[in-house]
Amino acid sequence: MDNTVYDILNDIGEGIVILDQELEICFWNHYMEYVTEIKQEKVKGCHIYEVLPNLNKDYFKKSVDQILCHGCKMFFSAAMHPALVNEKKEFNLKISSFQKENFTFFLLEFINVTNQFARINQLKEYVHQLYELNKKLKEKEAVIKNLAYYDQLTGLANRTLFYKLAEKFINNASRHETLLALMFLDVDKFKLINDTYGHEAGDKVIMKVADILTKCTRKGDIVARLGGDEFLILLPYIKEANHYQGIASRIIQAEQKSILHCEKEITISLSMGISVYPYHGKTLDKLILRADQAMYTAKNNGGNQYFIFE
Ligand code: GH3
Ligand code: MG
Repeated sequence: MDNTVYDILNDIGEGIVILDQELEICFWNHYMEYVTEIKQEKVKGCHIYEVLPNLNKDYFKKSVDQILCHGCKMFFSAAMHPALVNEKKEFNLKISSFQKENFTFFLLEFINVTNQFARINQLKEYVHQLYELNKKLKEKEAVIKNLAYYDQLTGLANRTLFYKLAEKFINNASRHETLLALMFLDVDKFKLINDTYGHEAGDKVIMKVADILTKCTRKGDIVARLGGDEFLILLPYIKEANHYQGIASRIIQAEQKSILHCEKEITISLSMGISVYPYHGKTLDKLILRADQAMYTAKNNGGNQYFIFE
């Protein structure tokens, strides 16, 4: 090749290497000198594998054979073939062949993609950071939601969530002209338990009641702790006005209605009042009021029983 061509190849901002058919280096441009810090004089006539040992791989040898047989071009991406030239920089490599005076030569073009790689890695890092941030936000959101809607001692719905859900069910019942039952429960002589056995025992009783109510109701029913020793249950799917009775009896007559505290058995007694939509009220507040009044009747009758508002 004449010198003008070499001058042009030396000025190119990418690595150019020309090999003869034996894969010995005939030309090594200035850019290759710059990235490898090896002068052309040092590598001229050397086998390419000696100078760039990372090319000494099966895929490279096969590609060279194919280029020789079919005259095709081959491309090696830096993503798939890292550190072709050195460990610090990443290059895509294109290999093609050309003929000169009946000899075949290989043209190797090394295109520096280190910056693109750095940018891709940076983007990946941003995406990862965003993902982590989003995850943390979601976790915080869940904690806040939990605090806002659930009773921390029992894990039951709190008053806010109960009102939110119950209003929806009442609207639904109004639209479809169906029935709803609302149960108001209060632990009998709870103050006495607190005073006799301590607040911790009282807490255990509250948790046990929550457990009993959850076990005695169905999945679609809403069980909530209104506060203190008061609980609410909404039965949204009753077909007949007296269909709450099964659940009410199950709760009042539940076996193992006691807790063990400091090796002492504390028996739990509950009073329950029941109101039915739409017979005893058409708003949630009215239904709660009626159920509460019925609960007091149950208590005045000696407790440990349920009473339906009259
Ligand atoms: P009654 O049979 O008439 O229901 O009488 P009672 O002693 O159960 O009276 P009341 O229902 O008014 O008692 C509520 C008590 O519950 C008052 C309060 O000190 C106590 N309490 C409220 N919240 C908690 C709690 O989270 N843990 C405990 N251990 N006690 C609580
Ligand atoms: Mg009570």
